[in-house]
Amino acid sequence: MRKPLMAGNWKMNKTILEAVSVVKALKSAVADISDVEILLCPSFTALYAVNNEVKGSNISIGAQNLFWETKGAFTGEVSPAMVKDTGCSYVLVGHSERRQYFGETNETVNKKTRAALAIDLIPVVCVGETLAERESNVTFQIIEKQIEEGLAGLTPKQASLTVIAYEPVWAIGTGKTATPEQAQEVQAFVRKIYAQIYREAADKVRILYGGSVNPGNVSELMKQPDIDGGLVGGASLEAESFVKLVKYSVAN
Ligand code: PEP
Repeated sequence: MRKPLMAGNWKMNKTILEAVSVVKALKSAVADISDVEILLCPSFTALYAVNNEVKGSNISIGAQNLFWETKGAFTGEVSPAMVKDTGCSYVLVGHSERRQYFGETNETVNKKTRAALAIDLIPVVCVGETLAERESNVTFQIIEKQIEEGLAGLTPKQASLTVIAYEPVWAIGTGKTATPEQAQEVQAFVRKIYAQIYREAADKVRILYGGSVNPGNVSELMKQPDIDGGLVGGASLEAESFVKLVKYSVAN
């Protein structure tokens, strides 16, 4: 049985004080939840303070990025050990905004994924097609390549620990959600590719859906057999709506 994971990606939002204030509200509202794993990914600058706030609670924290080298002359980068040092157990890898604005490729995603796993950080590897790719009917080829290249060289154990987030680029921050059927179709395909490469890890890997998830659409999405949770941007920024997302998945 895969435990659902509801993850909030705060992107480049919130000062330290703002982040801590949302976490304080969130922490008490979700204190009784044990059927869903709750993950918050604040900006690097807020991680340490947010970690102090979530210690001993049922909320885990993750970074939004990491670099694959362990140390050295890489100005502005953050190493896997530094991410871990702030209290993170997860890290987002290859979010479409990083692919689009910061030149990340399947190859760099692979380096980051392997570097995270090497230090026992769980990577949440983001995959997804652009609108042009969907309209050209190449969605499955794109996703297959992102999985094959982005996750190349993982052991079966690492493959089952890794989390995949299917995020159609056209649905991120646009208010356009994939229909539950569209999301399920691609997520079932991700599991099929996984089974071909990593065999039994396919039953264990959690595949999240991301792209304008909100309290109004989460229920239908979470009913799909291959949707094991959500990666949520906008609707995770305020405690009230994120609590609704987390609680909805519990109700189901
Ligand atoms: C995201 O940040 O990964 C995301 C899916 O954003 P939003 O929920 O705002 O579309």
